[in-house]
Amino acid sequence: MAKAETPTQRKLAKLGLRSTQDFILHLPLRYQDETSLTPIGSLRPGREAQAEGRVVQSEVQLRPRRQLVATLADDTGRLGLRFLNFYPSQHAQLAVGQQVRVLGEPRGGLFGLEMIHPRVTRAGTELPDTLTPVYPTTQGLPQPTLRRLIGEALAVADLAETLPEAMRARLALPTFAEAIRTLHQPPAGVAQGELLEHHHPAWQRIKFDELLAQQLSLAEARARRRAQRALPLPAQPGEGLAARLLAALPFALTPAQRRVVAEIGGDLGQHHPMQRLLQGDVGSGKTVVAALAAAQAIDHGVQVALMAPTEILAEQHWHKLRGWLQPLGVELSWLSGSLGVRARREALAAIAEGRAQLVVGTQALIQDTVQFHRLGLAISDEQHRFGVGQRLALRQKSGDPGLAVHQLMMSATPIPRTLAMTVFADLDVSTIDELPPGRSPVITKLASDARRDEIMARIRQAVRDGRQAYWVCPLVEESEALQLQTAVDTYDVLRQALPDVRVGLVHGKLPSADKAAVMQAFQAGELDLLVATTVIEVGVDVPNATLMVIEHAERFGLAQLHQLRGRVGRGSHQSACVLLYQSPLSMLAKERLRCLHETQDGFVIAQRDLELRGPGEFLGVRQSGTELLRFADLEGDSAIVERARECATELREYHPDAVAAHLERWARGREDFLRA
Ligand code: ADP
Ligand code: MG
Repeated sequence: MAKAETPTQRKLAKLGLRSTQDFILHLPLRYQDETSLTPIGSLRPGREAQAEGRVVQSEVQLRPRRQLVATLADDTGRLGLRFLNFYPSQHAQLAVGQQVRVLGEPRGGLFGLEMIHPRVTRAGTELPDTLTPVYPTTQGLPQPTLRRLIGEALAVADLAETLPEAMRARLALPTFAEAIRTLHQPPAGVAQGELLEHHHPAWQRIKFDELLAQQLSLAEARARRRAQRALPLPAQPGEGLAARLLAALPFALTPAQRRVVAEIGGDLGQHHPMQRLLQGDVGSGKTVVAALAAAQAIDHGVQVALMAPTEILAEQHWHKLRGWLQPLGVELSWLSGSLGVRARREALAAIAEGRAQLVVGTQALIQDTVQFHRLGLAISDEQHRFGVGQRLALRQKSGDPGLAVHQLMMSATPIPRTLAMTVFADLDVSTIDELPPGRSPVITKLASDARRDEIMARIRQAVRDGRQAYWVCPLVEESEALQLQTAVDTYDVLRQALPDVRVGLVHGKLPSADKAAVMQAFQAGELDLLVATTVIEVGVDVPNATLMVIEHAERFGLAQLHQLRGRVGRGSHQSACVLLYQSPLSMLAKERLRCLHETQDGFVIAQRDLELRGPGEFLGVRQSGTELLRFADLEGDSAIVERARECATELREYHPDAVAAHLERWARGREDFLRA
């Protein structure tokens, strides 16, 4: 029979406290030291302490408000006590002549040290030999209740060791039982600072356990994925479609591209679904790698979908892939939200009947109405723009419930190492770590807004030299309408200031057909200067563009600026990026701009970005459950992450019982996010 919840139980549930395990893992925020007494003369302001003495004075004052004021004395000095709210019993407890013990934080008052609302108990009782824990709690749930319940849980809990003794000794960590007892009931004289800072070995053990559980769960998720079946799509030696595409390309692959093509090609040949992240800095040539993977899959009679987060980016892919693959006889379809009714119906039919071998589009691809005939490979570009759910949706569209789809995710934003080892540990990663030959690094200049005239001259010069330029309008976060207005104004101003220059404007609110027309004209060299909002942030590829001006660069994030800058330096001509800023700059903005000025390495920038912003914003991590780490911190505890990872591998290989016990303790009810 289920009993009704009491109010206390409801409050406990609010703190996530239900099972015995929940209680023992509810760890103190801090401690009170009741293990010793401090002579009154040795009390220091701001340092919580316990003292005993005789009440030598006690009165209820009425001004400026009703309060109980008393004085406590011992041989070494006097201490004021003040209570703004009090019960008659407290008044009696503090009658002159009483011997009492007080616990509180002394402050400097008008007449020497005083404690406001100290805890008062009888003097002379036995001192505990452990510190008193102070737990995170909620309204109406007092510390003594929590302490009692947690104490009871500790008495009955299973604190059995989950790590093999040899491993624990090697890691120099306390046992789980020792760690838990130390954290709830630290012995007098423990290094309190280490406890508070979470550096104490007991804390290290808890963080290690949590990260180990995360690593073990991720490894299980990976094993589950390997147990799924997918259609093997091995590379066709010799005369395959991929080989023909390779032969038709106007350039040779870089060694890095060849390496990742081989990695992806190997995965596609497996009986379980590929889940690979292809990372490479902007301009490193990921698109052709995707095209080669698509070609390898199409050779086996399956369909391939390529999804990009914005219409402009999807369209670029569409043109590029069509240019490469149509001549080889591949049927392509285009699908985006802005497609007309008839065109959409036709595209959907081609996809459902399997006539479309390669489908390129936006998120429209994952809608329910899109039925694939036989989807074998799903590619998503700039994958961090998509949520986990959106990626999963494509994975399940194979058209055969027994078969999972191979997945290739591309990103120009590299995953910092700690995230790669944790949240993204389930992905295999391929990295293109060199740019195609003949690229010269982009010169990055910082310029105050006051120097606009010089910038205009630079644009004129670039155009005279036959080059093209981008002008990125400031981000206006508060209002999309304002952002649009700014873009239109900038366009007008630039057109007037540069009468010999052919200026175009592209922004998010432009109908897709117009957007496409402007991009096309810029690509074809019919426009010299493209004024744009951040719609050009990702993937736009016009090698003849050599100058980029970013207005109000201080308003953009690091990764965004890096992406924007990546639009230039794509051809063999020297390129430049001018970051216009408005003074004065905030510290953070200064840091960002300096970092960008100093390096062009996407990995360094991503690492810096992570430090400046924290991991929460990274690659859609929010949806993937880092918040489920309660004790460890991916950045601060990266050394522990590394150890946990090694130990997870070892445990899975040699100690399956320990794996089960450890996950039982730590991962219960937390597995959801790992299915992604
Ligand atoms: P990103 O990795 O940023 O998506 P792209 O795939 O758009 O980069 O490639 C950038 C440009 O470099 C494109 O014009 C592409 O055709 C070209 N490219 C790709 N690989 C090579 C190569 N091996 N040699 C020369 N140019 C290449
Ligand atoms: Mg790209």
